[in-house]
Amino acid sequence: MRSVCAAAPQLAGVVPYDPKYLPVTAVLSANENPHDVDDEIRRDIMREVKRLPLNRYPDPLANDLRDMIAEANGLDRDQVLVGNGGDELLFNLALAWGGPGRTFLNLPPTFSVYDANARLTNTSVVDVPRRADFSIDEEAVLARVAEGGIDYLVVTSPNNPTGQLASETFILRLLDATDALVMVDEAYFEFSRQTMRPYLAQHKNLVILRTFSKAFSLAGARMGYILGDAEVVREFVKVRQPYSVDAVSQAVARVVYANRAKFERGILAVIEERARLIEGLKRIPGVKPFPSDANYVLFRVENAPVIWEALYERGVLVRDFSRAAHLENCLRVTVGASEENDAFLRALRDAVMGKCDLKVPST
Ligand SMILES: *Cc1c(COP(=O)(O)O)cnc(C)c1O
Repeated sequence: MRSVCAAAPQLAGVVPYDPKYLPVTAVLSANENPHDVDDEIRRDIMREVKRLPLNRYPDPLANDLRDMIAEANGLDRDQVLVGNGGDELLFNLALAWGGPGRTFLNLPPTFSVYDANARLTNTSVVDVPRRADFSIDEEAVLARVAEGGIDYLVVTSPNNPTGQLASETFILRLLDATDALVMVDEAYFEFSRQTMRPYLAQHKNLVILRTFSKAFSLAGARMGYILGDAEVVREFVKVRQPYSVDAVSQAVARVVYANRAKFERGILAVIEERARLIEGLKRIPGVKPFPSDANYVLFRVENAPVIWEALYERGVLVRDFSRAAHLENCLRVTVGASEENDAFLRALRDAVMGKCDLKVPST
């Protein structure tokens, strides 16, 4: 058998993404909605899916869904584009605005996908790290873009995994200070209730990313979208895989989007549980939660990898960021259903108090 020549050089050292899903009772590691789509909406989904011609290619641009999203946001169809999850649109961003000889400005610690996509597309990465409290070093970012040579940046608001919103005033200053494309990643905007959408009309270099995966319980169906200037959207269309969003996902997303008001109660419940979770974390000695505008809470604790393991042994899966740059001893917990949050707080208290090897019956 012949051997095979090496893969592209930018893949050297890249570690494939692994969400580290493990069988547990409380999955609090991926910022998903704790509640699945309800039965009534599911029935409508099934009816729609039943009627689909599966032998035909889907509408590549999902225009029916695009129109629904455009109308809800006071935009035209050509200012909206859907993707196979927000992740595909982030990759398209790197393809369309990055590439050899081009530069991405990153604000770590933040969503690791941005840096990975830049590397895969041979885009140079300039880091302007956040401050110790994870706020954006605004003056440093403005100074760096003023130097020139930045082609695109992503401002994650609220930021994942740290949890806080970026300041609207800062984003507006940034949009005026550069002609780089500024993507504001609003994957969690339903929980923060703040959006840059009203500023789209005045800023051609602003593009907003949203997803159905978090507030709308559709992480399994893969659907995300961008809102932006029609000319910017057209560049994204050029690089996208024409059929990346399949007919079934389009149908599922249409029904969910039409029923989006029904998700409001669940979103409010998450916001309430978030406050309770932060209070609970503050009451555990040695645990420092960071403020959050999203559906997860980052916290710092001594010996985080050991604590992570102890939580896992008690059936609670959280996300370990302790080996990531700037996130020493940090774990991130997704706001789950209240029983899950209680189980997490109990397990964490036991782990921190050194009782993690006691076999306490779980409730
Ligand atoms: C979850 C997430 C996304 C998009 O997720 P998809 O499931 O691919 O839609 C984008 N940005 C951030 C910061 C996220 O946390």
